[in-house]
Amino acid sequence: MRISREKLKSDLIEKVEEISGERLAVCYQCGKCSAGCPLESEMETLPHRVIRLLQLGSGDEALGSSAIWLCASCHTCAARCPKGVDLSKIMEALRVILLRRGYHRLEPADVPPEVLAKAPQQAIVSCYRKFNS
Ligand code: SF4
Ligand code: SF4
Repeated sequence: MRISREKLKSDLIEKVEEISGERLAVCYQCGKCSAGCPLESEMETLPHRVIRLLQLGSGDEALGSSAIWLCASCHTCAARCPKGVDLSKIMEALRVILLRRGYHRLEPADVPPEVLAKAPQQAIVSCYRKFNS
């Protein structure tokens, strides 16, 4: 599959670039971001692949990736990227797009009581903010 001008001008890409302030076309898929990501072993789609999916016009696949929810916004990828891409902002933009559509990643009722009892309140509130619209 190849990148085309049309694919790079999709509504989704424009929205991701508007929210994140990042340009997807500059990523040349070196993979340095994924190599340094502390959560890459948990992600079924590696961070640089999320960008690739967007570049190739597979926006739904990018939006369906658990990687966008696992990203801890640690900015390691941004520090390593030779093109200055801050992937954490792209991950956040994808989450925002889903949340604006009314998507809920985490239903409060699904959190086990033992987790609620042990987790710090601040962490619980942060989770609800990150995962729910
Ligand atoms: S490090 Fe930067 S240029 Fe390399 S794959 Fe990641 S985002 Fe793309
Ligand atoms: S900001 Fe997200 S994608 Fe980037 S290295 Fe950290 S966890 Fe991985």
